[in-house]
Amino acid sequence: MDQHRTHWINGKPWTGETAARGDIYNPATGRVAGTVDFAGEIEVGAAVAAAEAALPGWRETSLVKRAAVMFAFRELVRSRQQELAAIITAEHGKVLSDAAGEVARGLEVVDFACGIPHLLRGGYSENVSAGVDAYSIRQPVGVVAGITPFNFPAMVPMWMFPIALACGNTFVLKPSEKDPSASQLLAELLAEAGLPDGAFNVVHGAKEAVDVLLTHPGVRAVSFVGSTPIARYIYETGTAHGKRVQALGGAKNHMVVLPDADLDLAADAAVNAGFGSAGERCMAISALVAVEPVGDELVAKIEQRMASLIVGPGDEEASEMGPLVTRQHRDKVAGYLDSGVAEGATLAVDGRSHPVTGDAADGFWLGPTLLDHVTPEMNCYRDEIFGPVLSVLRARSYAEALQIINANPYGNGTAIFTNDGGAARRFTHEVEVGMVGVNVPIPVPMAFYSFGGWKSSLFGDTHVYGTDGVHFYTRAKAVTSRWLDPSHGGVNLGFPVNQ
Ligand code: NAD
Repeated sequence: MDQHRTHWINGKPWTGETAARGDIYNPATGRVAGTVDFAGEIEVGAAVAAAEAALPGWRETSLVKRAAVMFAFRELVRSRQQELAAIITAEHGKVLSDAAGEVARGLEVVDFACGIPHLLRGGYSENVSAGVDAYSIRQPVGVVAGITPFNFPAMVPMWMFPIALACGNTFVLKPSEKDPSASQLLAELLAEAGLPDGAFNVVHGAKEAVDVLLTHPGVRAVSFVGSTPIARYIYETGTAHGKRVQALGGAKNHMVVLPDADLDLAADAAVNAGFGSAGERCMAISALVAVEPVGDELVAKIEQRMASLIVGPGDEEASEMGPLVTRQHRDKVAGYLDSGVAEGATLAVDGRSHPVTGDAADGFWLGPTLLDHVTPEMNCYRDEIFGPVLSVLRARSYAEALQIINANPYGNGTAIFTNDGGAARRFTHEVEVGMVGVNVPIPVPMAFYSFGGWKSSLFGDTHVYGTDGVHFYTRAKAVTSRWLDPSHGGVNLGFPVNQ
């Protein structure tokens, strides 16, 4: 496969010249599999202009017709789910079942967006004053942009555009330059579903394309998902240019295991949530906090499970974990193994020696790794590693475990494993994290709740999708109305108050 990706603007692939290009890799072989155009001012300008031109027609399209486009899109994505998964696996590296799972979780948001006629219902109060009625409506904000990370090339864009479009906005997506192809198929399927040309556009590229979106006066709102330093930059730059911004950042997700927990369940969960998708999930468990005295027993159970994990190319059925996304990222993640040991951690399982099946020696491999006796001062704990490295911290008590989590600058997801309902309830009440699981290791909220972290994991006020998504992509308007009545009251210069 040697393919070239370009932008999708006004319902078709971009045919103009593009000054810059990047390579697309197959992480399982380490070889270049294609190229992608990088957008600058001209291409992003064309995409925003197409979205602006499509806006009046799309926002006036009836709610029922907008919902019908979402229903048709839902069926098309379902029918092409495996194809979409194969595209994701080829560029991201995750195993096919995981890629199909990401499409399924994205589809849940499409399901939610199909209910837009209900979601946009306003409120109505009759007779707020004599003969006066009041009601509220929500209207689209205009052209909105989505800037998304490499780790969910289909799901994270689907957190954004289904709701944005259903609300009557038009959209410009800037997906990750590392795995740009899934967005092309999504754009084609939206067109096939009946979305008018220009209502959904895709521009590829990196910082230059993003900066044009962040400063373009035609873009009214920006949704971002990615790492914390870039999220902060997006929030500060976008809001300084008068845009509504929600910017979701990185994570350090802790899983607390209390002494009364079922340790087999906890060990299974730690391995699944630590190494699924090679740890490249924003909700991956990267720090396990074992409340003593269960640390040694839990670590032994985790080691036992790690030994049998099959690491290999994502398109091989036997593979349970694929490669990392790029060589640079693999090398950066692997660097924490030595630095962790230098700082005093124990390398209980060294992923560099994990066997890889198949003929893929040059792929970006790193097997599952376990660092034990990690402490909060170490860099392998403080940094978001974003790879298959699980760090184990030992706490003497529930209170110490909670203190570790609440002192961490990130606050995306967390989980507690216990059979004590009172302890679990106390944890959900006290922990300063946006998404909490009780005996559930990756508590990604369903589409009818909203996704978002606290602290350095989110800049802005609203979480993504769910009712927060509807709020983000709409502006509220309150209308107070009186139809002429013989008792209208005549001239009165006082401030209107209810008599
Ligand atoms: P990233 O921040 O490097 O890139 C995200 C997007 O920003 C990409 O589209 C990229 O092209 C663009 N970008 C990169 N550098 C930029 C710059 N200097 N200026 C402007 N734009 C820039 O993130 P990534 O490596 O693609 O994804 C992994 C990160 O995303 C991890 O930190 C992970 O935790 C985070 N993430 C968070 C969530 C969440 O919901 N909070 C979900 C998924 C991923």
